[in-house]
Amino acid sequence: MKCSLGGSFSKGELVPFGNIELSPCAGVLNYGQGLFEGLKAYRTEDDNILLFRPEENAKRMMMGAERMCMPSPSVDQFIQAVKATVLANERWIPPPGKGSLYIRPLLIGSGSVLGLAPAPEYTFLIYVSPVGNYFKEGLSPINLIIETEMHRATPGGTGSVKTIGNYAAVLKAQGAAKAEGYSDVLYLDSVHKKYLEEVSSCNIFIVKGNSISTPDIKGTILPGITRKSIIDVARDEGFQVEEREVTVDELLDADEVFCTGTAVVVSPVGSITYLGKSVSYGSHGVGLVSQQLYSSLTRLQMGLVDDKMGWIVKLK
Ligand code: PMP
Repeated sequence: MKCSLGGSFSKGELVPFGNIELSPCAGVLNYGQGLFEGLKAYRTEDDNILLFRPEENAKRMMMGAERMCMPSPSVDQFIQAVKATVLANERWIPPPGKGSLYIRPLLIGSGSVLGLAPAPEYTFLIYVSPVGNYFKEGLSPINLIIETEMHRATPGGTGSVKTIGNYAAVLKAQGAAKAEGYSDVLYLDSVHKKYLEEVSSCNIFIVKGNSISTPDIKGTILPGITRKSIIDVARDEGFQVEEREVTVDELLDADEVFCTGTAVVVSPVGSITYLGKSVSYGSHGVGLVSQQLYSSLTRLQMGLVDDKMGWIVKLK
């Protein structure tokens, strides 16, 4: 099904960070027409700036725009806008090894609508913020609780696109989990309630022997760019990787569990709590496979190893 929305994006301008003006009738405020992306820029020792697979973020935004009945910037427009914003904010990029510049592109329905309909106008904007390394002193495990009542996404819904409403849907379960001392929530499929989906803002993998498995992309989980990259890196390093339905029982019986995402990179999972019982992984929750893949990916993203996959875009 296609929306009959055309739309083009004119060359944007760089403005100092600040509030933006929106009509109270803007589509994004009333009917949730909003998409975002997240990626990072790293500074290298020879003072270059690296982006990691920005065309993947551009393509994911285009796919999401189609689902949300929005026009979207082309891959080229997206990447040019990201590059211009990063270069204009170069002074905010932390020194090598000390963090990165987090880049947040947003596509919103900015035109006015009263009755339920796609907005007549759209705005694409980008803001950036320096962020520290997710793990300050070596990898430390996160503790997840499996949510059995609330779901993040349902078949036919918008779970596979990065729309703002998906994140509103997880706030309640995530808040309750954090109040109980967990790092985050792991969601199950809403039909059988036994297959793993994903965590509030990252994908999940299980390790058993030399085999790594992750839930397949079937419309209810976000096709993470880190997920896709880790699948390739792990295969390249000799692991057998499967994208398939993964059950809670397999998760609880795994040797190792880890999550992937732009923010968390590769995060080992120390324990999972399900229906009041907890299972712990390894002696300190940081398995060897998670450590190996974390190291491979971060070294690649920071420009410390040869980019044989051709994933790095240099800005200078
Ligand atoms: N799932 C969800 C729901 C997310 O918000 C994210 C973060 N973008 C991910 C998975 C991981 O995606 P990526 O690796 O592209 O950051």
